[in-house]
Amino acid sequence: MRHVAIPGHDPEHEAGQSSVRGHDPEHDPVRDPWRTTMTLALAEAAAAAAAGDVPVGAVLLSPAGDVLALGHNERERHGDPTAHAEVLALRRGARKLGEWRLQGCTLVVTLEPCTMCAGAIQQSRIERVVYGAHDQKAGAAGSLWDLLRDRRLNHRPEVIAGVREEECAAQLTAFFRDRQPDRRT
Ligand SMILES: [Zn+2]
Repeated sequence: MRHVAIPGHDPEHEAGQSSVRGHDPEHDPVRDPWRTTMTLALAEAAAAAAAGDVPVGAVLLSPAGDVLALGHNERERHGDPTAHAEVLALRRGARKLGEWRLQGCTLVVTLEPCTMCAGAIQQSRIERVVYGAHDQKAGAAGSLWDLLRDRRLNHRPEVIAGVREEECAAQLTAFFRDRQPDRRT
């Protein structure tokens, strides 16, 4: 006995057809290429949470798309206010390349960069920043400020926001919810 697919009645086939015309919400040609790298960034963020730090993770990719460096928030671990995931990934990547200019590189991070990290990103001259969750309280890549795309600066990376946003935000929400009983305020 054979099961015969009838093209006109295959919902997936129909969804595929509609995506060609740009009506399929599941298909996002801008963000989809970064979903896999965001998996690595999410794993880095989980490592931060396991060590008691706010879960933010970052991945620096070379111009060819290879992983150059990883970083996660280590502020509590090292008692260092500048030990944000992005700064650590940029430092490690630069050390690996033996060069402070990270031209052509892409930084993928789970949370929108703060002003300090946006400054470091701008200084590093990377080509692209991809982030997951928006940070309405401190974001400097579109939410509160947009330092990365400030036209007064001569180097402005491309910014792609909202890659796996819900998962990135959920990781942060879970961290703060679980810590709530320990808080005194
Ligand atoms: Zn930061």
